Amino acid sequence: MLGFDLSEEHRLLEQSVREWGSKEVVPKIHDLDRAHQFDPTILPKMAELGLLGVCVPTAYGGAGMDYISLGLASEELEYVDTSLRVILSVHVGLNCLSLLTWGTEAQKQQYLVPQARGERISTYGLTEPAAGSDVRGLQSIAEKKGSDYFLTGEKQWISLADVADHFLVFAWTDAEKKRQRDPSGLTAFIVERGFKGFSSGTMKEKWGILAGNTGYFRMDEVRVPPENVLGKPGEGFKIAMFALDQGRYTVAAGATGLIRACRDASASYAKERQAFGVEIAQHQLVKAMIAQMESDYQAARLLWLRSGWMKNEGKRNTRETSLAKWFATIASERAASDAVQVHGANGYSDEYPVGRFFRNCKGAVIYEGTREIHTLMQADYVLGYRQDGLTRCQLPAYVPSE
Ligand SMILES: Cc1cc2nc3c(=O)[nH]c(=O)nc-3n(C[C@H](O)[C@H](O)[C@H](O)COP(=O)(O)OP(=O)(O)OC[C@H]3O[C@@H](n4cnc5c(N)ncnc54)[C@H](O)[C@@H]3O)c2cc1C
Repeated sequence: MLGFDLSEEHRLLEQSVREWGSKEVVPKIHDLDRAHQFDPTILPKMAELGLLGVCVPTAYGGAGMDYISLGLASEELEYVDTSLRVILSVHVGLNCLSLLTWGTEAQKQQYLVPQARGERISTYGLTEPAAGSDVRGLQSIAEKKGSDYFLTGEKQWISLADVADHFLVFAWTDAEKKRQRDPSGLTAFIVERGFKGFSSGTMKEKWGILAGNTGYFRMDEVRVPPENVLGKPGEGFKIAMFALDQGRYTVAAGATGLIRACRDASASYAKERQAFGVEIAQHQLVKAMIAQMESDYQAARLLWLRSGWMKNEGKRNTRETSLAKWFATIASERAASDAVQVHGANGYSDEYPVGRFFRNCKGAVIYEGTREIHTLMQADYVLGYRQDGLTRCQLPAYVPSE
């Protein structure tokens, strides 16, 4: 049976995030954005709403909701500001769900439980100064001495780099495979901020998502015990790609929220502003931009909902999630550009939120697989050059809590 209705639980979550966002974040987001300031008081509020472990089972400290709930929360958060959704993307999408799927019971107890409760914040460190799309070009290494690993390298463009307590880090454990660019030489590690040799900083030159924290971290012979290897040695590349399936999902749903924010701001302004003796909403070319936003919003939402449904069912969804992320982020760029256009010169000023939407939307066309990487993926699926096999661990299907 096919159904498009949200459950009562979904609606309540949507409503509570929407109310919190509009009452507590909207009034201050303009100033935070202009001050390039991350507001850490947002995190306990998100934890209180259950968002920091929204789709993590209650047995591991989460709210025990389904993956559609993660998408709904992402959409509502990015409706307010991209920086809020980014927290969910790296903490829940990329990190917590990787621990849930690939972690040992001890790792889940030690790291996932406090993360899902919002007592510890986590992020994902893949990108380096010389390697983004080209993951095989990573330079970070993890040398084994005795039973411990010693990690050395630098990660850059890391969301929450200066805020997070726990980092999911990818590094080469096999020097020969590194030389041959064979990704089975990469390993995933759980690294704590407090480990000796770890340091981080904030990037100051960023021009979008200004209320969010983005930075770098350095590892100088950081000693990591073998218990902190996530999955098995050599499974790092698979885990990195697995994590992106979940992170991209939140990016898709978030970009959908940004399209809706552009649509709502444009519709409201178009009915206030007069030109040539009528409100500008009466001009057909303005209507065309608003209609395009509506069509993009509806299509983007259906695409991420399908992905979320597949996750709930335990079905592999790399292809569908890539499509949802690719479509929604490109559409959000179009919507934000048109939202500025609908606002005329006022759109070119920070007195209206659409300029912020315009700056914020571009990041998502770059991170978690650039527009070009998703274009290639989608073509390769159609052409039969790419198929997804089963990995050793899969995201657990949704099981309602008792
Ligand atoms: C705001 C922000 C937050 C981020 N947060 C995180 C984070 O939390 N953790 C993390 O690990 N990373 C994060 N990133 C990094 C992000 O994932 C990378 O920027 C992204 O993967 C692209 O890598 P790159 O910037 O090195 O670009 P490059 O890979 O150098 O690409 C440059 C250009 O070349 C194109 N290109 C590259 N290869 C190909 C190809 N084979 N075919 C066609 N075109 C190609 C790209 O599409 C792009 O247009 C973040 C980035 C931003 C902007």
